[in-house]
Amino acid sequence: MKLKNGLKVKPEGSPFMTKIIIDSSLCVGCGGCNTSCPFGILDLDDGHAMVVEDLLDDCTECGLCEEECPEKAVKVE
Ligand code: SF4
Ligand code: SF4
Repeated sequence: MKLKNGLKVKPEGSPFMTKIIIDSSLCVGCGGCNTSCPFGILDLDDGHAMVVEDLLDDCTECGLCEEECPEKAVKVE
């Protein structure tokens, strides 16, 4: 299952949430975020980046996807 925006609960009971936010209006489907993520958490669907929800727990918040996006369409929070 893929979502436009990913959301997960951080481990160890932290009240803070991790979000991978993709602004589809900015995404040009270049695949930069997809190829930069070491865990394949971002994928392309119909020419736009999406979050693979089932893999979101593997996100380390490394920020590579955000850094690689030429359109600044990805935000890791
Ligand atoms: S922050 Fe890092 S691990 Fe998380 S989705 Fe982006 S590239 Fe992948
Ligand atoms: S790097 Fe940015 S523009 Fe390229 S597919 Fe990912 S979100 Fe879209």
